[in-house]
Amino acid sequence: MRERPVVVVGAGLGGLAAALHLAGDGRRVHVIERTDAPGGRAGQLRVDGYSFDTGPTVLTMPDVIDSTLAAVGETLTDWLDLVPLDPAYRAHFADGSTLDVRTDPDAMAAEIEALAGPREAAGYRDLARWLTRLYEVEFRSFIDRNIDSPLGLVGPDLARLVALGGLRRLSGRVAKHLRDPRTQKVFSFQTLYAGMAPHEALALYGVISYMDTVAGVWFPRGGMHALARALAGAAEKHGVEFTYGAPVTRIETRGGRATAVITSDGSRIEAQAVIVNADLGVAYRSLLPDRPAPRRLARARYAPSCLLLHVGADWSSPDLAHHNIHFGRAWRTTFDELVRGGVPQSDPSLLVCHPSGTDPALAPAGRHSYYVLVPAPHLGGRFDWAADGDRLVEATWAELAGRGYAGLRSSADVVRTVTPVDWAAMDLPMGTPFSLAHTFAQTGPFRPANRVRGLSNVFFAGAATHPGVGVPTVLISGRLAAERVRKA
Ligand SMILES: Cc1cc2nc3c(=O)[nH]c(=O)nc-3n(C[C@H](O)[C@H](O)[C@H](O)COP(=O)(O)OP(=O)(O)OC[C@H]3O[C@@H](n4cnc5c(N)ncnc54)[C@H](O)[C@@H]3O)c2cc1C
Repeated sequence: MRERPVVVVGAGLGGLAAALHLAGDGRRVHVIERTDAPGGRAGQLRVDGYSFDTGPTVLTMPDVIDSTLAAVGETLTDWLDLVPLDPAYRAHFADGSTLDVRTDPDAMAAEIEALAGPREAAGYRDLARWLTRLYEVEFRSFIDRNIDSPLGLVGPDLARLVALGGLRRLSGRVAKHLRDPRTQKVFSFQTLYAGMAPHEALALYGVISYMDTVAGVWFPRGGMHALARALAGAAEKHGVEFTYGAPVTRIETRGGRATAVITSDGSRIEAQAVIVNADLGVAYRSLLPDRPAPRRLARARYAPSCLLLHVGADWSSPDLAHHNIHFGRAWRTTFDELVRGGVPQSDPSLLVCHPSGTDPALAPAGRHSYYVLVPAPHLGGRFDWAADGDRLVEATWAELAGRGYAGLRSSADVVRTVTPVDWAAMDLPMGTPFSLAHTFAQTGPFRPANRVRGLSNVFFAGAATHPGVGVPTVLISGRLAAERVRKA
């Protein structure tokens, strides 16, 4: 008889990574996905000749992709054409100045010197050294492994992290090296990816700034979704079975073990173990209703959400880079509004991506694709999306017009708007695609665990468990879940 497969529920990046690592171990693996394609949040929207990425746009740490593919003996360059982005970002400040964020340290120091003088450039070099050290200490001990209890944090790297000032506030730490408020923004706004304001985030979250400002940003030809296609393709090549269009409705358990998963059409797929890539809160509620969800999920703090505009147009501007961040004049207050107050930023910072500038195949000939992301409150805040959502969309178009995109709307032939209401319809709690915020109380051993209490062969992969939100981190979560299966 053939061995029962390890069933992976969901073909998001975390689920795909788990499948690849399990296949690399020689296991039989069956991925069951409710939609028609792999990728989950890293999906693709095709409209009238445009291909829009629906989720991540900033790809960092390609070595993690490489090691995920290496689990089955494959190589990144055989599956993806990654274009290094230079600049990684173009920062546009409220005073009209700009800064190209570049990965090469000498080039970046020169950019900073031109913007803010030689002292600031020297401060950047010190900051980049500190961020690199922080990353080295954190990655091996706190990100890239399963940590089962707070005691698991204790060790020489914790002492090193404390000595590096990792438990102080990030904004203070950045200000130690950089004096210009503009450069300070460039090296600290990334905490918002983790659902926090720079002035509340611990300095250890500087590791996110390291990933995109120091280690670099890439873009896969074909769009970010090409990453999901590549992982699914490699998994399939190595024997992983995929079933699409099949929502899993329940995990069947007996005697402290999962025995099978049941799909919406009543099919029963026997399983030797199950890895769940669906959101944890949703999974406990609907797939494992007999299992008590961890208490920390009930009182969880979710990251702010976002408003997205996908725009196809024949408008362009020579001032555009692939990633353009437009910082507002206000800073601390805007984070307080969003993160603490649950209301839109009164002076928003926004990200405008121009992917067809790097890969013209993403838009019809002579046209351009844009992705505008505005941080916005999730559904649990004080903002009434049903009543006021349209007004926020209008306000966003007005902001865009004032920040150099005056011709964009009138020349658009495709516009798609995505709000927290849409994220909620995708089973993302609170309507945020950024999951649980990475407060200290929701990080590492304090984040909901990737094991299920009382079930010896069910594990989680994805953004809501360790190590957390983001492409490299969910790929790692897949490997950590596969390690659990190996040990179970
Ligand atoms: C707008 C946006 C911008 C982002 N920007 C960046 C960025 O620039 N850089 C970065 O690194 N990260 C970014 N992220 C975060 C990153 O994309 C996510 O953290 C990551 O893709 C989440 O992957 P995941 O494995 O947790 O699962 P998901 O992508 O949520 O996938 C879960 C999968 O499980 C399936 N599923 C759920 N329930 C069931 C069920 N019952 N039965 C079968 N299948 C099921 C879903 O359909 C889905 O395919 C962004 C995300 C979004 C949405």
